[in-house]
Amino acid sequence: MTNFSDTYDVIIVGAGPSGSTLGRKLSQQGLKVLLLDKSTFPRYKVCGGGLTLRAAKQLDIDVSPVIHDKISAMELCCNGQLHHTFTKDTPFIYMVMRDEFDMLLLQAAIDAGVDFRPASHVTKVECCDTEVSVQTQSDVYRGRYVVGADGVNSPTAKHLGLMTNKEKILALEYEMKVDDALLERFRGTVAIDYGFIDEGYAWVFPKRDHLSVGIGLGTRDGRFLQEKLMEYLAREQIHGEFLSEKGFFLSVGGSDNTIARGRAALIGDAAGLVDPLMGEGIFYALRSANILADVLLQAARDNEDHPFGEYQRRIEQEILLEMRLFRRASKIFHAMPKQIHKVFIAHPGIVHHAFRVIAGESSFQDFYNKYRSSNFMMKAISGLAVRMMGKP
Ligand SMILES: Cc1cc2nc3c(=O)[nH]c(=O)nc-3n(C[C@H](O)[C@H](O)[C@H](O)COP(=O)(O)OP(=O)(O)OC[C@H]3O[C@@H](n4cnc5c(N)ncnc54)[C@H](O)[C@@H]3O)c2cc1C
Repeated sequence: MTNFSDTYDVIIVGAGPSGSTLGRKLSQQGLKVLLLDKSTFPRYKVCGGGLTLRAAKQLDIDVSPVIHDKISAMELCCNGQLHHTFTKDTPFIYMVMRDEFDMLLLQAAIDAGVDFRPASHVTKVECCDTEVSVQTQSDVYRGRYVVGADGVNSPTAKHLGLMTNKEKILALEYEMKVDDALLERFRGTVAIDYGFIDEGYAWVFPKRDHLSVGIGLGTRDGRFLQEKLMEYLAREQIHGEFLSEKGFFLSVGGSDNTIARGRAALIGDAAGLVDPLMGEGIFYALRSANILADVLLQAARDNEDHPFGEYQRRIEQEILLEMRLFRRASKIFHAMPKQIHKVFIAHPGIVHHAFRVIAGESSFQDFYNKYRSSNFMMKAISGLAVRMMGKP
């Protein structure tokens, strides 16, 4: 039998980082929020668990209980060659497991007053001029607004005809139990190999008691990625027991998609907000949740009934412009990874600047403009070419 509920101010579909954060922010200010997720929590989520410092800075809650490692070094190589480790004096990425991290954010939302319903698989979302309705297997909920925070395959987006032009790519994530010596080798260090697959990379992210290894971006061919990941692990002499072997899609941003209409909006992966260069998504999940919370709270204060145009405008300004730069940078980078890797080694200041972007101490726009405007890369690459070819 279908049960009808009281009306909510906001119904959020999906209790990942974006949904929980939005719910918490709205509840803290007294809005009546319903948060639905098809899973029960804590739940495993396919993810490297690299929480950049800039992402952690989007949260006003203490994440230290779920940090497995603090990263202050990055070992880069290009297709197995020229391994080089770059370091920063302070950590710039935290390592988390998503079951623990997402549970921490969800608990904070529940503590703030969000009405959370686990095991609620949303099957239908409808919007009309005056209200929204969200249906699960057993219930129908009514609200003033609906927010799709339901990840890359977003059923909310599908039901409402949003994000119709989504670009999806695949990544694999394996959790590996390894011996102490291997754990020690990667303590405080992430390893990244680019130039090994087209437009993507392989990685090792260390956790407290195991390694998360993965590969992806640039393709949707799972079998190819599996073979390449095995090749990478054998070459890097990373052996151990596979605790889990999973793949999942990412929807990378920068395209012109509608992410809000009428009484509905999308945040996080549902809105395609993953950077196309490194595949970072948690930062944008949290950032878009914070922007939407601002917009909805301002609308509540102003008694404004249709605030999502402002949300779309702010996402364009504050996220999509950066995404487009990432896309351009990604094209340049993947066209000549080996040359650029050599430039990194010859000019470590570029990598140190990138670390400051990851840490939220500088913006990607600043980084991009600095190296583009001075034509720095081209000069550096041609300088290298001259050196490699020898002086006449
Ligand atoms: C292999 C891989 C590695 C990655 N590594 C990193 C990394 O190291 N760092 C980083 O920043 N990003 C990484 N990402 C991206 C990151 O995982 C996402 O960007 C992030 O999870 C987005 O958060 P979200 O809240 O938008 O969505 P999600 O975390 O995907 O949450 C969506 C929620 O919606 C729920 N849901 C879905 N459908 C329904 C439904 N019908 N009804 C009810 N609930 C529903 C799901 O159960 C889920 O809990 C990686 C992604 C992949 C695939």
